[in-house]
Amino acid sequence: MKTIAYFCKNLFFLFSPGLFHCLCLCLCLSLFYACNTKESKIITVTGEIPAGEIGKTLHHEHLLVDFIGADSTGYFRWNRDSVVEKVLPYLLEIKKLGYKTLVECTPAYLGRDPELMKMLVEKSGIQIITNTGYYSAVGGKFIPPHGFTETAEQLANRWINEAKNGIEGTGIYPGFIKISVERGPLTEINLKVVEAACITHKTTGLVIMSHTGLAVPAFQQLEILEKHGIHPSAFIWTHAHNEQDNLKMVEAAQKGAWIAFDNFNPDRLDRFVEFALMMKKEGLLNKLMFSHDAGWYQPGVAGGGNFRGFTEVEKLLIPALEKNGLSQQDIYQLFTANPAEAFKVKIRLNRS
Ligand SMILES: [Zn+2]
Repeated sequence: MKTIAYFCKNLFFLFSPGLFHCLCLCLCLSLFYACNTKESKIITVTGEIPAGEIGKTLHHEHLLVDFIGADSTGYFRWNRDSVVEKVLPYLLEIKKLGYKTLVECTPAYLGRDPELMKMLVEKSGIQIITNTGYYSAVGGKFIPPHGFTETAEQLANRWINEAKNGIEGTGIYPGFIKISVERGPLTEINLKVVEAACITHKTTGLVIMSHTGLAVPAFQQLEILEKHGIHPSAFIWTHAHNEQDNLKMVEAAQKGAWIAFDNFNPDRLDRFVEFALMMKKEGLLNKLMFSHDAGWYQPGVAGGGNFRGFTEVEKLLIPALEKNGLSQQDIYQLFTANPAEAFKVKIRLNRS
């Protein structure tokens, strides 16, 4: 970008004034916007969008989760039309509230279904972002057999292939990397998926969202990123609200990592508000995201079980944040500007 800007500046002065002057200016502006647009795309289930079009976003939700395990799950486990019938009203509900995008955080082998998401996008008008990557918490229950035998490089190649060629021939592309680790120190399989995520990030520029919870594994992961030369802004510390030492999240955010308080429910109202105020005081509101971690049509349960909707953030959390002094600009930061920045495709290296 700097090189292009330098070239344009010189070209501009070489041929001024007159018509050529104007033409050069137009060329420079076009190049500038072309470069900017290229750097700022987000990948949704129905294609690329400029990051600025993400709109108000719930950055961590689930449409369907299949808890049966990697050895038994498959698309045969649910009927897409039945899931659409159940889930669509919940998407229309958030659309009415002004939300434009929902990030679907269910990884492969846990119920990720790109075709289902596409059906719901088309019927609801809500943009959905899906993922690549594996979930290695719960003792590896959701890791397929090849996940245990292959190297981190081999796993990364599978995920990079999805990012380059689409998921399973659907023509649908992942917009981020979703991984998961245990709450304690990283296990062998945890380490491997984090390594694979780093390799994938360096090729694809997809942000790494890691189901993490506590500070010990969070900082272990940031160390692995550093070993790969990756900036912490490529990392979303998911379920950070489970860590009780707020200073740990402040420390990670100061390094540049994203802090995700993503399982909002009414019982957590005070915790979420208190943390937002702390981050605002620290000047770190630009590193924080909130969501429900809700939804969850469950295959194998009658009618998909109890589906939790996506409206409590809008109906309870945002009014409470405003009542406690957050401005409209702060709310825009949390639910629009931060997701736009976090999910934009960009290789984030320490030297850049
Ligand atoms: Zn989740």
